[in-house]
Amino acid sequence: MAAVAMDAREGEMNEFELIRRYFSRAPRAPRAVVRGIGDDCALVRVRAGHELVVTTDLLIEGRHFRRGAAPRALGHKALAVNLSDLAAGGATPRWFTLALALPSANPRWLKDFSEGLFALAKRHDVALIGGDTTRGPLAIDITALGEAPAGKALSRAGARPGHDLWVSGELGGAALALRRPRLQAVASRLHRPQPRVALGQALRGLASACIDVSDGLAGDLGHILERSQVGARVDYQRIPRPDVFEKFSKLERQCVLSGGDDYELLFTAPAAVRRNIEFLSKKLRIRLARIGSITKGRKLVIQDQAGNSIRVRGGFDHFA
Ligand code: ADP
Ligand code: MG
Repeated sequence: MAAVAMDAREGEMNEFELIRRYFSRAPRAPRAVVRGIGDDCALVRVRAGHELVVTTDLLIEGRHFRRGAAPRALGHKALAVNLSDLAAGGATPRWFTLALALPSANPRWLKDFSEGLFALAKRHDVALIGGDTTRGPLAIDITALGEAPAGKALSRAGARPGHDLWVSGELGGAALALRRPRLQAVASRLHRPQPRVALGQALRGLASACIDVSDGLAGDLGHILERSQVGARVDYQRIPRPDVFEKFSKLERQCVLSGGDDYELLFTAPAAVRRNIEFLSKKLRIRLARIGSITKGRKLVIQDQAGNSIRVRGGFDHFA
């Protein structure tokens, strides 16, 4: 749709020219794309014995990013947040679509945005296979499609009492960057999150439940607990966080426990596979920290070094 919506204004390229110029790129491995951009529907071939894993994330100016945000980082992040969801599902990313609402067809913006987008797409070997383009307030909606062997995709629902609780990387950096925009040490955590795609796939068959940390540890862990009908005890000291928090100790707890946008994976696994997970950490060179365990009663308890429980704002009220 949309020749009407993107109706030509003086000196602007039209909708189809825009798509051709910035978004029609041949994927690196075109085999599974039977039909890409240019028709009413795209057509892809899912591998035999696999399930299609689908996720979508909408980013709106003023809500998810500030007005005037750098287009290259936006292109990266719009795809990254979707790949992170596929990672949490243990899926192998394959394709994506892009729906764009743009206030104007600004070539400089489009060039930078598409470069940020395709750089990440290339790194994870995902192909852009279609989308929609319209004039409107800036909004970016990507739908990502991946594959997982039938029955093997990860979910939030499989945590059992006694299982270990793990998290990848460090938490709180993105939230600190939001509060201290000029702090270089954590800027990339917010603007260029690296989706844990390889880790998600490697966790198939190991993790009992998995989620990506987009809304903060407490809230996202709350989702696992709710879907799995269990509780958890978390040891605050064990949660990895960027060193720079030594200089921002007042902000630390809030950022580490409730700060969103880190896009790390939070997962549970039986104690019997601890060694496998430690091996995975070395193999993938990703820090994996065991930060607590799953419990029976449906409560979330976060303890500090002294054993006192820490109250957390937001995200898991229904456990209070
Ligand atoms: P339709 O009118 O059938 O919805 P469009 O005219 O909107 O199709 O789009 C033409 C082709 O360009 C389609 O294949 C569509 O998937 C693709 N497309 C449109 N916008 C984008 C975009 N932002 N990125 C990638 N492909 C796009
Ligand atoms: Mg059509």
